[in-house]
Amino acid sequence: MKKIAAILLTLGLLAGCTPGTTGTTAGSSSAGTTATTEGTKATTTAAEEKLKADIVVIGAGGAGMTAAIQAVQNGATNVVILEKMPMTGGNTVRSTGGLNASETKYQKAEGIEDSNQLFFDDTMKGGKNLNNPDLVHTLVDNSAAAVDWVNEIGGDLSVVGMFGGASVKRIHRPSDTGAVGPMLVKALNAKVAELKIPVLLETEAKEILADKDGKVTGVKIKSKGKENTIECKTVVIATGGFGANSEMVVKYKPDFKGFGTTNHAGATGDGIVMAEALGAATVDMDQIQNHPTVDPETQTLYTEGVRGNGAILVNKEGKRFVNELDTRDVVSTAILAQTDGKAYMVFDEDVRKSLKAIESYFKQGLVKEGATPEELAKAIGIDAAALTETMKNYSGFQAAGKDTEFNRPQMEFPLSTPKFYAVVCSPAIHHTMGGLVINNKAEVINKEGKAITGLFAAGEVTGGIHGANRLGGNAVADIIVFGRIAGTGAEAFVKANGGNTPATIKAESNEGTAIPEVKGNYKDGTYTGKGTGKGGDIEVEIKVTDSSVTSITVTKNSETPEIFKTAETKVINQVIKTQKAEADAVAGATLSVDGLLKAISEALSKAK
Ligand code: ADP
Repeated sequence: MKKIAAILLTLGLLAGCTPGTTGTTAGSSSAGTTATTEGTKATTTAAEEKLKADIVVIGAGGAGMTAAIQAVQNGATNVVILEKMPMTGGNTVRSTGGLNASETKYQKAEGIEDSNQLFFDDTMKGGKNLNNPDLVHTLVDNSAAAVDWVNEIGGDLSVVGMFGGASVKRIHRPSDTGAVGPMLVKALNAKVAELKIPVLLETEAKEILADKDGKVTGVKIKSKGKENTIECKTVVIATGGFGANSEMVVKYKPDFKGFGTTNHAGATGDGIVMAEALGAATVDMDQIQNHPTVDPETQTLYTEGVRGNGAILVNKEGKRFVNELDTRDVVSTAILAQTDGKAYMVFDEDVRKSLKAIESYFKQGLVKEGATPEELAKAIGIDAAALTETMKNYSGFQAAGKDTEFNRPQMEFPLSTPKFYAVVCSPAIHHTMGGLVINNKAEVINKEGKAITGLFAAGEVTGGIHGANRLGGNAVADIIVFGRIAGTGAEAFVKANGGNTPATIKAESNEGTAIPEVKGNYKDGTYTGKGTGKGGDIEVEIKVTDSSVTSITVTKNSETPEIFKTAETKVINQVIKTQKAEADAVAGATLSVDGLLKAISEALSKAK
């Protein structure tokens, strides 16, 4: 209750409420807390009338939160993040691989010989030399510091692995080999909360305002159907890509009509449109990447790490058809050329054990298995004799250290340890490489080649870094490196233009932050449910965004407050993380937990 209501109060949008007081959700005075996924909740000072900030960051994904944190670390005191979705994280929370970086202490500790020049060469080669070399130099030269920065703010990137398009092991991942996105967003959320940077959720930037000289002056916003303006000195656009905007995709790439996408629903290219209205230039808009290995039904993305750690791709005829570690564009094109435009990613017990991210595919029921390659082939309906032969040959290549068929550069395992596993996959729209033109200071450049005064951009909304094809692991490097540069630039801009002002949109510390760790399978919308606790009825309201439960609000309960509060936070966080109406027992609160779960379960059954 408190968070959403408080955010609306900040914006002066809740009719009949006095700013500075805490509102309650409709119809309930005993409503509990809302465990949403934002980094902070925001409140306002009573005297405040106009909304003002020094720096407005649009988008609470990886690039936006990084920019905001860096700006505050450099001394900014009045930074606000706008986020149109009910949760932070954007596409960043979905990233599975890791962060590419060269000359890091982790590579050195493992004796991996890498250099910024080699990283530069790989990135340019992968991007077919369409990349802007200046931006790529900036990316690689700041990559090792990006790993350290993530670790300093509480993240965990310490294991180095192999990924497509890289000459050496370069992708930095969490030590538990889990997906990078949830780890990163959790760390960013926590740091945003610690620094008390307000995040205004469900607040969409509609227009960036500028004076007659083209200097940025504010942002028009819309929250719950109401419009308002935040005056500011500088804006950082970090709205991500446009992979979920099929109209925009088809406008720039008609061939991709009807394609699925791995993107979250908020990836609609808003930042590009808003900046273009101020005369910003764009680049490479037709460069749109498919991720090669996506489940055709659920659009679940199978991280490249599965192939990097040893999996092979076979077609319906049971045969390999490509170097599985080639760049994404090559592998995607190769898959589309196979029967039904699909492939099967095959791995064994060794590969499964090597990568924790794989377990989530099992949990989602996407993996088929067999005790032998033949059994596996039967389970997935492909040619059994051919698959057996393919796997035997591959074991031979692995033992010899040379893939004479497709020249795969690295073969971690012989793929001969039962059980054997497979998932079906095909390409889906994954990343939009084109976007706003920026320089190496993350300033947005207009059509005359000049920086737009007070306007910065970072992350997937920008173009030129990845050229014609982004290497896996380079998006996370991009958002951290350029997010930090944009935050640094914005803070310096404020300093040079009148200096810091005190924050009027204040943040409180957040508790109980949770993000979905698996994708849900629900219909988007708001649902209610009822259960019976120890003291009587418990009612909840659940919000499903982009197929996942993103917030749960207890709208009514009569439980013992001290006991219920802990149980409520624990249960809600667990449900959001696992996307299931299940939770561990909470001592002394069995009946409350049961009632709450019943209410959540009833709401979720309506979302099926
Ligand atoms: P990046 O990887 O570049 O950080 P993400 O996709 O992770 O990009 O994050 C971009 C964020 O920006 C998403 O959370 C998205 O919902 C948000 N966003 C997009 N358009 C707007 C807008 N008009 N107003 C506010 N937030 C926006």
